[in-house]
Amino acid sequence: MSDSFTKPVPHPGPDTQPFWDGLARGEYLIQRCKDCGKLRHYPRPVCDGCWSMAHEWVAASGSGTVHSWTVCHHPFHMGFKAQSPYILLTVDLAEGVRAQGQLRGLPAEALRLGLPVALGYEREGEGPVLPIFRPAEER
Ligand SMILES: [Zn+2]
Repeated sequence: MSDSFTKPVPHPGPDTQPFWDGLARGEYLIQRCKDCGKLRHYPRPVCDGCWSMAHEWVAASGSGTVHSWTVCHHPFHMGFKAQSPYILLTVDLAEGVRAQGQLRGLPAEALRLGLPVALGYEREGEGPVLPIFRPAEER
């Protein structure tokens, strides 16, 4: 990392490295239990449905709806000060798990529970690729 990227960065371990590798390729990967089929996110070693440690990774479709959000006026880390205020969404992905990412393309005043959003990817400088959400295209 160069000195120009000042935000905290993830330190992937064996359970989370595939997730971060997926983001770098433009895929949001979710763990699926190989024994009972339950999807889980965030990445972790054990299925909370059947306690199996066998899993595989599946790519999210990218569709979801707004579950909740926070408008962050006070940065929790100085690396986020320049972009504050920013909006952090919690999204119910179509697959049935929740994800978080910053909102792009919409002011906080336009947010509502259940608003359809689409997953995207963004890389700032030499930082990691992170998931972001935009309003879903009208159909
Ligand atoms: Zn299971």
